[in-house]
Amino acid sequence: MSHIQQEIKTITNALPEGVRLVAVSKFNPESAIQEAYDCGQRIFGESQVQELQRKQEILPKDIQWHFIGHLQTNKVKYIAPYVAMIHAVDSEKLLLEINKQAEKHQRIIPCLLQLHVAQEETKYGFSEQECWNFLKNGSWKDLKHVMISGIMCMASNVDDNKQIKSEFHRAYEFFLKAKSEFFVSQPTFCECSWGMSHDYPIAIQEGSTLIRVGSKIFGERKY
Ligand SMILES: *Cc1c(COP(=O)(O)O)cnc(C)c1O
Repeated sequence: MSHIQQEIKTITNALPEGVRLVAVSKFNPESAIQEAYDCGQRIFGESQVQELQRKQEILPKDIQWHFIGHLQTNKVKYIAPYVAMIHAVDSEKLLLEINKQAEKHQRIIPCLLQLHVAQEETKYGFSEQECWNFLKNGSWKDLKHVMISGIMCMASNVDDNKQIKSEFHRAYEFFLKAKSEFFVSQPTFCECSWGMSHDYPIAIQEGSTLIRVGSKIFGERKY
């Protein structure tokens, strides 16, 4: 087994039931993805449209590509034919565009709403209030080609595990509240996307169902 395959096995063998691994393959070559694929990994995360386009064409068609980065509205059309989930929806405008492009391909694209819980100013996402207002407004219920499937967040990039834990906790509380208020009869609202290489064990303690792990599997990226 290669290093990549060993890491995938180590991580997935330890996952509790109901938690899935998104192997974040951004900036890594197709060969690395193929190695991961060969040991059974099927969900991969990418954060750049052009790069995803290139990889999607070459690699096996049963890969589930999750778009995890900030998505520009004008680029939705490129990934709409195949993308399996869009993690970081942070505006109504973006959701409308995803719905429009999904309709062209007669698809329903699962989307997560990105919640801003970190202290850093630079991160994207709805504030809790904005997200709540958006859900309460209800206009998303008319969109037949997107399925709001849960919440995504990133914790602050700090070493303080207590802070990370409390940020994931807030996101989880928000998820539970939103679920009971707006999605009672919709079991498809079930995903909590949080946890990266350095903080995914904490994320799992705080309700994560999708961990997004890159460098721990593929090695440090060379930017
Ligand atoms: C790059 C990235 C990850 C993976 O980060 P690692 O620290 O390499 O595990 C997860 N989520 C998002 C949104 C990312 O951009």
